[in-house]
Amino acid sequence: MRILKVTGPAVHRSILHSRAVLHSRARSQSPYNVKAFSRRLIDWQKVHGRHGLPWQGTRDPYRLWLSEIMLQQTQVATVIPYYERFLARFPDVAALAGADPGEVMRLWSGLGYYARARNLHGAARRVVETHGGRFPLQVDAVADLPGIGRSTAAAIVAFATGEPHAILDGNVKRVLARHAGIAGPVDSSAVIARLWETAQSRLPRRDVEAYTQGLMDLGSTLCSRTSPDCGRCPVRADCVARREGRTDELPGPKAARAAKLRRAVWLVVIAGGRVLLEQRPAPGIWGGLWSFPAFAEGMDPREACASLGVAPVSIDPLPNLRHAFTHFTLEATPFRVRVRRTSLAAGEPGRRWIGMVDAQDAALPAPVKRLLATLAPEASRSGAARAGTGAGSRAAPRRR
Ligand code: SF4
Repeated sequence: MRILKVTGPAVHRSILHSRAVLHSRARSQSPYNVKAFSRRLIDWQKVHGRHGLPWQGTRDPYRLWLSEIMLQQTQVATVIPYYERFLARFPDVAALAGADPGEVMRLWSGLGYYARARNLHGAARRVVETHGGRFPLQVDAVADLPGIGRSTAAAIVAFATGEPHAILDGNVKRVLARHAGIAGPVDSSAVIARLWETAQSRLPRRDVEAYTQGLMDLGSTLCSRTSPDCGRCPVRADCVARREGRTDELPGPKAARAAKLRRAVWLVVIAGGRVLLEQRPAPGIWGGLWSFPAFAEGMDPREACASLGVAPVSIDPLPNLRHAFTHFTLEATPFRVRVRRTSLAAGEPGRRWIGMVDAQDAALPAPVKRLLATLAPEASRSGAARAGTGAGSRAAPRRR
């Protein structure tokens, strides 16, 4: 084998030429073409995206805001009936601002992440007080309202005005991290800054609504977390993750956080088919909703009964249950406590008796409803389960 040794100006020219070729290739093989990315996404959304949802086809920022908040962490199919019921009861921001907090929580009951409902109510009041009842249409002003982040504010304004504003929710982060090949923990400030830059740089001037919806649709349908359907993706041709076989490693996992477990003892106090409930303080988990009286981990149920002022006929342990919140998991140890009379402990503010069957329609967190449903056969054997719920019907009114 012969080795050619070349030195001097020839080498320099050769290096410059190689660099020029590489640079030109890099440009022609650019990981994405901004205009093409948005155009392909828009065309795809118009044909294959989601259409006909109750919050589409409107420029009413109140409706858009409500849908964006409800859709956080929640599937479209779950949201639709809640959205329609909420809107029927509170058709505009003034109606929501003037609503009773308990009524707002009741209509949200079962949708989870209840801080969203409290913030929604607070934001409606703020819109009335500081914006004269007109929902603002500037991203900064919208993001200043309780419970609305930068991405949600941008989505509301983009859909309400057609102006280009970059969004970056969880699904969009996944699409952009994969398509642009942005590695690193997706919750790190450096990665988030790069994702915002990427989102901003790809905005189209026209068809903003279809583009914004297309990003959301792509992230929640084809570009799924565990098994992206790249073969049908409109931007597959220049997707870095697809080309390099890295869809399983992009976006990078969040920095590990120790899982927190909180434990509590619940007393499910039952008297003649009615159950004793307490209103949860706000702010806090399930704030404003009605739940079982809760005590610190390890609390003796007899002592807990004494502190409530109820005299138990029997106390039976029920299976533990777990419920995951965003930052921790709650493990509850419930005890069924049978008492003879409902009058005990009911006089306390924030504490009410309610018929166990009626509880399914009241402002209760889903795990509390589920536990009560397992005990409902016992309630249905009691004549008091549905009729004459007394104070309970005032505390947690039934759906109309
Ligand atoms: S090609 Fe695959 S990984 Fe890339 S954006 Fe499309 S669905 Fe996601």
